[in-house]
Amino acid sequence: MPHRPTSETGRPAWRASVLTLFPEMFPGPLGLSLAGQALAAGIWSLDLHQIRDFGIGRHRAVDDTPAGGGAGMVMRADVLAAAIDHARASAPEQPLVYMSPRGEPLTQATARALAAGPGVMILAGRFEGVDQRVIEARQMREISIGDYVMSGGELPAMVLLDACVRLLPGVVGAAESLVHESFETGMLEHPLYTRPREWEGRAIPEVLLSGDHKKIAEWRAEEQRRATAARRPDLLKRTAS
Ligand code: SAM
Repeated sequence: MPHRPTSETGRPAWRASVLTLFPEMFPGPLGLSLAGQALAAGIWSLDLHQIRDFGIGRHRAVDDTPAGGGAGMVMRADVLAAAIDHARASAPEQPLVYMSPRGEPLTQATARALAAGPGVMILAGRFEGVDQRVIEARQMREISIGDYVMSGGELPAMVLLDACVRLLPGVVGAAESLVHESFETGMLEHPLYTRPREWEGRAIPEVLLSGDHKKIAEWRAEEQRRATAARRPDLLKRTAS
């Protein structure tokens, strides 16, 4: 039986594994605030695997020059497969994700689907990226955090993990606060206000102080539509289709 850590509540922990050349970067920001408290409470767990442990030769090489020439280095398929197979032996149920600018864009729906499963195993790339053959042979799902290039997959892995972990039961205090967030409804969130009632000559919209919950809900729904149409019309098109 694979080891499956349990949380304080007795529920099996949502299990994250990261394969990286820089395990010391973790948990990093995931060790603080909501994610950090949830990690300490055992709501989720984090296993780190040093890819270099599976490197070749005296220097534990993990990369080599690109076939066909060109700049930079490519992570070797045989080294990565050995690291993945080793990690998989103790976590066979986790879907395997390679953080990659060539991947499908990360969405709230993806985070929600992964959070509903047993966890995730993430390969963080470095150099120019990873030999295509290991992506195919180990059936990795490629996920991108946006249309820009980071120097490594560790920060993208943290982005994905943070988006998933905050959706786990018991991590965010009021589950209600997740429901109205940007993207959950297919739209951006409405604007937010808090005290003081007036600040630098700017007042909180009157309706929010009216105590009329129906009117407040209508105002928020309209603001959501307005912000989404102005800033992200692509989201409205997606919802309509
Ligand atoms: N040569 C690659 C390209 O042009 O697509 C970029 C490689 S990047 C310097 C090194 C690693 O960072 C990648 O293997 C990937 O793991 C990670 N990475 C960089 N940008 C990313 C993004 N937008 N989303 C997810 N991972 C990313």
